[in-house]
Amino acid sequence: MEIIVAKNSGWCYGVRRALDIAKETRQKKAGKVFTFGDLIHNPQVIADLRKQKIYSVEDLDELKEGTVIIRSHGVSPDSYKLLEKKNIEIVDATCPIVKKIQKLVAFLAEKKEEIIIIGNKEHPEIKGIIGFSRGKGIIMENEAEVKDMPSKKRRAVIAQSTQDLYLFKKIVVALIDKTEEINMYNTICHSTQTRQKSTSELASNVDTLFIVGGKNSSNTNKLYQISKRILPNTHFIESAAQITSEMLKGARKIGLSGGASTPPEAIQKAVTKIKSHFKHQFQTEKIAQCPR
Ligand code: SF4
Repeated sequence: MEIIVAKNSGWCYGVRRALDIAKETRQKKAGKVFTFGDLIHNPQVIADLRKQKIYSVEDLDELKEGTVIIRSHGVSPDSYKLLEKKNIEIVDATCPIVKKIQKLVAFLAEKKEEIIIIGNKEHPEIKGIIGFSRGKGIIMENEAEVKDMPSKKRRAVIAQSTQDLYLFKKIVVALIDKTEEINMYNTICHSTQTRQKSTSELASNVDTLFIVGGKNSSNTNKLYQISKRILPNTHFIESAAQITSEMLKGARKIGLSGGASTPPEAIQKAVTKIKSHFKHQFQTEKIAQCPR
């Protein structure tokens, strides 16, 4: 029996950075410290932050005092304005890659381009990005939505940083029929792309695969969909406790991967649980090579 952990899995640069900024802020500030929304989409990490007295608020109107940390997903210009008006101190942990996407959208909006934003309408990153589009942005979640669109001379297309590359390509191809000139910007971040590649390679190479991470994490969900397309025997688990004997029945080669918001320890705990299930069998554990 073999266990393979994808090398490109777990916390990305933007998430690590946001967590470090939050901890540093807590040490420096005597007053109340909040995050606007959960800092990362992972229940264990959020519980840990609460223990450190860093609380998550969903509505900026709730804030009366203290410091608010903007998470890696970023926010819209209106949110910055509201916080300034309320005199709330802002610590901006927006991932620099998301900042770049926001700037690109603001630039395209200034040129009066129609901007197709391929992403999840309810995702905070998209809610922030659309705010930079000055009414020129249209959010699309799937290629079926292209059917009802009017034909147009020119469109710009960008993606949520954690978008599934396969879906992005499918929507761009569908848009070709409706658009004379497409300016396509592949804004899917490198961390996301390497995680998606590692996971799809791993899914082709094992008989059972576990995607570890928060069910509310967009990028972890994408990894699950990618793996499930290749390997139906893919399981999405939030913690090691959810691994059952049924899931491991007949498994000989088991892969594990996690999204950008999955703590490395969560993957390690899942490995330990699998190892203990197969404790009487020969095991090897290895880190999958990063695909180029
Ligand atoms: S997934 Fe990419 S863009 Fe999003 S926070 Fe991580 S590094 Fe930044």
